[in-house]
Amino acid sequence: MNANEIYNELLNAYGKPRWWSDDAFTVMFQAVLVQNTAWSSVEKTCEPFKDKLSPKFIASLSDEELQKLIAPCGFYKSKARTIKLLVKWFEKYNYSVQETQKVPLQTLRNELLSLKGIGAETADVILVYALYQPSFIIDAYTRRFLSRLGFDFEDDEKIRIFFENNLPKDARIYGYFHWLILDHCISVCRKTPLCGECKMNRECKSLIHFGSK
Ligand code: SF4
Repeated sequence: MNANEIYNELLNAYGKPRWWSDDAFTVMFQAVLVQNTAWSSVEKTCEPFKDKLSPKFIASLSDEELQKLIAPCGFYKSKARTIKLLVKWFEKYNYSVQETQKVPLQTLRNELLSLKGIGAETADVILVYALYQPSFIIDAYTRRFLSRLGFDFEDDEKIRIFFENNLPKDARIYGYFHWLILDHCISVCRKTPLCGECKMNRECKSLIHFGSK
């Protein structure tokens, strides 16, 4: 199977997924908060101030105020520092997604990666869901899912090539694809997978291993 075929299989199985958020800064903020934390904690934490969440609002808070606000998500000191760095970085572009789109993707990615607390996965989440740039998001679910399907990639760079060479350079598709992989890995291809319920089980190399055939 190539990346395009996997995408279509998942799309047929789960339908068109949701988008993270239409507000770019909400994506950036939550992409940092969700590191090593359950998504439900992020939603609960953001609920009281979701209507006023903006880079200016965050910039107006002291470090201590921001830490207190995000404390339920854990690692609040380092996350608060990263969020402040992100706000400063976004300010360079007048907090405008359109402004960032005048800059090459690789430059944006390198700038994000240079911020303390932003790794490849968080940078790619921000590029795709906030800035609409096609930079495929690779996380632990993606690696596990591909390995179960029977792929043996040397490293994340090879996984990136596998996806990016077989898909249109379209951030929407990358974003939907990432969400579909999440859906699939949370609902069916779990740590102990439910292969009998999986729509991809005819193509999957792990089915015999997990004893459902
Ligand atoms: S058949 Fe099982 S291991 Fe393979 S993708 Fe489906 S749930 Fe995952």
